[in-house]
Amino acid sequence: EAVKPSNFLRQIIESDLEKGTYAQRRWAGTPGDAAHHAKGEPDTAKIRTRFPPEPNGYLHVGHAKSICLNFGLARDYGGVCHLRFDDTNPEKEDLEYVNSIVDAIKWLGFDWNGSQGDYSAAPYQASDYFDFMYRAAEYLVEAGHAYVDEQTAEQMRANRGDFGKPGIDSPFRSRTPAENLAHFREMRDGKHEDGSMVLRAKIDMASPNINMRDPAIYRIRRATHHNTGDTWCIYPMYTFAHPIEDALEQITHSICTLEFEDQRPFYDWLMDRLCEGGLLANPAPKQYEFARLNLTYVITSKRKLAQLVYDHKVSGWDDPRMPTIVGLRRRGYTPAALQLFAERIGVTKSDSWIDYSTLEGCLREDLETVAHRGFAVLNPVKLVLTNWGEVFAAQGGDAYLEPCTQPVLPHPADGAPVAERHFTLGKEVWIEREDYEETPPKGYKRLYPGNKVRLKGGFVIECTGANRDATGNVTEVLATVIPDTKSGTPGSATVKASAAISWVGVANGVSAEVRMYDRLFLDAQPDAGGKDFIESLNPNSLKVVTAIVEPSLANAVPDQKFQFERHGYFVADRVDHVQGTKPVFNLAVGLKDSWGK
Ligand code: ATP
Ligand code: MG
Ligand code: MG
Repeated sequence: EAVKPSNFLRQIIESDLEKGTYAQRRWAGTPGDAAHHAKGEPDTAKIRTRFPPEPNGYLHVGHAKSICLNFGLARDYGGVCHLRFDDTNPEKEDLEYVNSIVDAIKWLGFDWNGSQGDYSAAPYQASDYFDFMYRAAEYLVEAGHAYVDEQTAEQMRANRGDFGKPGIDSPFRSRTPAENLAHFREMRDGKHEDGSMVLRAKIDMASPNINMRDPAIYRIRRATHHNTGDTWCIYPMYTFAHPIEDALEQITHSICTLEFEDQRPFYDWLMDRLCEGGLLANPAPKQYEFARLNLTYVITSKRKLAQLVYDHKVSGWDDPRMPTIVGLRRRGYTPAALQLFAERIGVTKSDSWIDYSTLEGCLREDLETVAHRGFAVLNPVKLVLTNWGEVFAAQGGDAYLEPCTQPVLPHPADGAPVAERHFTLGKEVWIEREDYEETPPKGYKRLYPGNKVRLKGGFVIECTGANRDATGNVTEVLATVIPDTKSGTPGSATVKASAAISWVGVANGVSAEVRMYDRLFLDAQPDAGGKDFIESLNPNSLKVVTAIVEPSLANAVPDQKFQFERHGYFVADRVDHVQGTKPVFNLAVGLKDSWGK
């Protein structure tokens, strides 16, 4: 196997492994420890990472980067990666999203919690730790590290200060631990209105890092939680909950995106306090930040993607134009292509934009050697071989069908045999409309009166002209077949053809719906700088055509990928395609990079 390129995270992990930073199990008896055992997770994990989505939407290509990173590091270093639902926000979550996240991770080829392909162990969920989080908060109160603040939200915001301007202490900051504990318990017991008070960490209102100016850690919110029901009317804030979740699960390397860099001092502060208090034990997990994925022509915000769905700009979360994992999958992307993409873009500490063509290149690379080939005519016009009946008079005349074959994959260099696809050639054939020109432009090598081309896998033909309707549209291209020139026969080399074109016999071609996709946005950075991304939607991002495909394509199973020769890679739509009776294909990616044009 190829050596993976190093990066700063790999270096940190390798150094920790060398030093034995996390060699000891640390928090026997904590709720997280019990959870490990309940899930049958091995104690032998050398490192632990986690992927902690909030189940409030479908995962997208940015999450795929994070999944490949976190699960990939665990795999490569003898560790375990936890799938953890970050469900501390009671109102936004939905089972539909939970299931879609589980499916996405499985599909990408990973399993969680060291389960090694056994998906029966439930993922972790942050709400399982609400009891511990509450106890941790009471400890902070008792130790003088947290207080109940009754300022209004506006007062708190105003008193927080700004860059270069220190904050102002809350008048409630000097309450005694006993007073704070009494108030905090009243909050828990439902004695106060939503929003009337919050629990805040007591750190430093003059800190240059605004996140350290007494951040809120618990709020009152009367909302039914999908896991804990109405047990709680107070809920922990993300900044408080997340480090505790990591610690209880004995995460070693907590990897997040750069926007959390300013939260790291609070993460460490909280770990230090809870270790001092004996609620957790060192060594605590450490947070590391990497640059999130920004992909040109793509939006990676769950909220904005949801807007596209709910405003019917796309057909759903799995619309093949969506950068969601379900959308990419339906478009024809493979797990291997997304893993290759994650490897190729790497992890860095500074934000940048990745060109969309990088993603497409990874799919092409994966499909090139494995996608079966097939003929599909996307813009068909009929070609009539006018002398067919005479040439094959002995075999049945006009009705005669000549069996033809083509390899399902290009012949390998070592000459190993390749399976063949079978179809027939008869008097009438579908060809691409663009393959005929009455007056050929310079360099044109396909059909024009007097020119000879080969029907791939069949005979050489000579064009004689075309029939047109009253408005001048070509209705039929006309040609004569040249006997004894079939591919693979001794006569095939006797007549020179200027091109070989793909075609589908009228006798056994099947009509198919083909969805030709283009970029969803015309602007390379559709939502940068507060732009309204709806305005840059590409009105031509989907064109549906009725194509004629060869029999092997009509027989595709849903999700099967093909190279339609000369057109690109296509996938049998996993939702709408019906094998044999109703073929539906999606354009996955063209044969060549067309994004620069
Ligand atoms: P969004 O902003 O789209 O709602 P999020 O970051 O809020 O995304 P989470 O469900 O919290 O979504 O994400 C789970 C994990 O995926 C987080 O650890 C986050 O860092 C990571 N992630 C999200 N978006 C990206 C991205 N564009 N590139 C890399 N990682 C990402
Ligand atoms: Mg989030
Ligand atoms: Mg977000």
